Amino acid sequence: MQNKSLLLLLLVVLMGFNPGLVNGQRKSKKNKEEQLKNTEINADSNIATTPKLVVGIVVDQMRYDYLTRFWDQYGDGGFKRMVNEGFNCKNNHFNYAPTVTGAGHASVYTGTTPSVHGIIANDWYDKYANESVYCAGDKSYNSVGTTSDAGKMSPHRIQTTTITDQVRLHTQMRGKVIAVAIKDRGAVLPGGHSANAAYWFDGGDAGNWISSSYYMNELPKWVSEFNSQKSVNQYKKPWTTLKDINTYKESGSDNNNYEGIFEGQGTATFPYDLVSLWDKNGKYSLLKSTPYGNSLTTDFALEAVDKEMLGADNDTDFLAISFSSTDYVGHNWGVNSKEVEDTYLRLDQDLKRLFDSLDKKVGAGEYTVFLTADHAAIDVPAFLRDNKLPGGLVDSKNMENRLTEFLKYTYGTTDIVKNSSNNQLFLDYKVVKNLDLDIDEVEEELALELIQYDGVYKVFTANQLWQNQYTSGIPYIVQNGYNQKRSGDVLMVFDPGSGSYGKTGSTHGSPWNYDTHAPLLFFGKGIKKGSTVSRTEIPDIAPTIAALLGMNAPSGTTGEPIVEVIK
Ligand code: ZN
Ligand code: ZN
Ligand code: ZN
Repeated sequence: MQNKSLLLLLLVVLMGFNPGLVNGQRKSKKNKEEQLKNTEINADSNIATTPKLVVGIVVDQMRYDYLTRFWDQYGDGGFKRMVNEGFNCKNNHFNYAPTVTGAGHASVYTGTTPSVHGIIANDWYDKYANESVYCAGDKSYNSVGTTSDAGKMSPHRIQTTTITDQVRLHTQMRGKVIAVAIKDRGAVLPGGHSANAAYWFDGGDAGNWISSSYYMNELPKWVSEFNSQKSVNQYKKPWTTLKDINTYKESGSDNNNYEGIFEGQGTATFPYDLVSLWDKNGKYSLLKSTPYGNSLTTDFALEAVDKEMLGADNDTDFLAISFSSTDYVGHNWGVNSKEVEDTYLRLDQDLKRLFDSLDKKVGAGEYTVFLTADHAAIDVPAFLRDNKLPGGLVDSKNMENRLTEFLKYTYGTTDIVKNSSNNQLFLDYKVVKNLDLDIDEVEEELALELIQYDGVYKVFTANQLWQNQYTSGIPYIVQNGYNQKRSGDVLMVFDPGSGSYGKTGSTHGSPWNYDTHAPLLFFGKGIKKGSTVSRTEIPDIAPTIAALLGMNAPSGTTGEPIVEVIK
């Protein structure tokens, strides 16, 4: 007994003085020490912070540098209020690829990566059903609020719980969860499995907020009334710049070759007369590609706070808002456009309107907010090339033809690859077996072939990802995006700045820094004032909120609470 204790003591002393070990375990040790410190401080004061309302905000396609680039032009009540009164994680990253909307929203809310939560893309090839599936699609439910299929959604493809589910569980289902976004997946995935409701915007001729029979059989009265009042029509007006366009110094010229043009308009320049563009550009869907999409999302979210009495009692409620229009604007005009600059200045005003209203309805200091993105975005690749910066166009058609030739020549059939999507190849195991081939060898032969193609940076095989555990760099990011059950058998990564891009607008999806660096701001009840340049990762958000609220983190959480954020 005594000897054992002595041995343990010796071990502890040795560990404490081993610099190598201390270095290797730096992050977790530092976290533990600080956690211990925090526990001591809080031991007899408060066991958990219970805001009346948590507001999760995802800004679709927001890059971190939109905070700094447009800082001088932001007002005091939006982004600046969050940064000045709250906590800014300046070096926050997605730690998986593909960096796309479905995977992004799922990762923010589950506290883990596609390898665990299973949302590996927006659409992917289901290798068991032999069909392409949509991340939020669910044919077993009906649309609510529309006769179209736009409401046939559910969160059934997320394989873990979400932070919103944990709020429901922790409060005996008394805490309400409402999720709102223009995009269905921007609402359905954040709402988790047990949301009271998720709502999204049905464009086209409708212009209504809709839902799925997964949540309800008919729209609540307040939603029907909101729709029938058609307050959305206030946005059928010209989109002009919020401030004098000559003061927009943090973007390129309005008229350039890198911007998409609306149907029926000569140039991609202000003002955008939405009234005359309306019919040719999808009617109400046109609003999605303008900052007004974010404004009408704010209108509806505030109505939800009011009518669902969010934050009215002591059981913590959760409002999940995703601003989708920033993504449509980024895709159409690119990250360096006047249109993006204006969209963020207007979003800043919508945030102010949201916070001012929550101050009144819930009470200043009574709610907690986090704001992040679902992915960032690349500069328009053609713009990069024109400025001698690394950016290449991957010719996907040529790549496909070369691969077809290779398959025919090597295996006598192209059937060996049954699907190619999201830069992944899915093999047909039956065909491989019938040809008497070894699956691991086929994967390697395909990897060797693909790595020779222009624009391909690295190729990973499923076998390689099964056998190794990567802890840093691109392999780590690829592995976190790789789901053993759902992903393909050969995975490609393109060169930095390279992809099969169009000539205009920005996009995203890569494991590179421009797609992974996203804002992460916390503010409100229980949040410390400050900032950090230490690396934080998207899956850290959910466990940070869980730690703040004294709840269990979601079932698959792999992130760690960001200890500096919590008071
Ligand atoms: Zn997105
Ligand atoms: Zn323009
Ligand atoms: Zn996008």
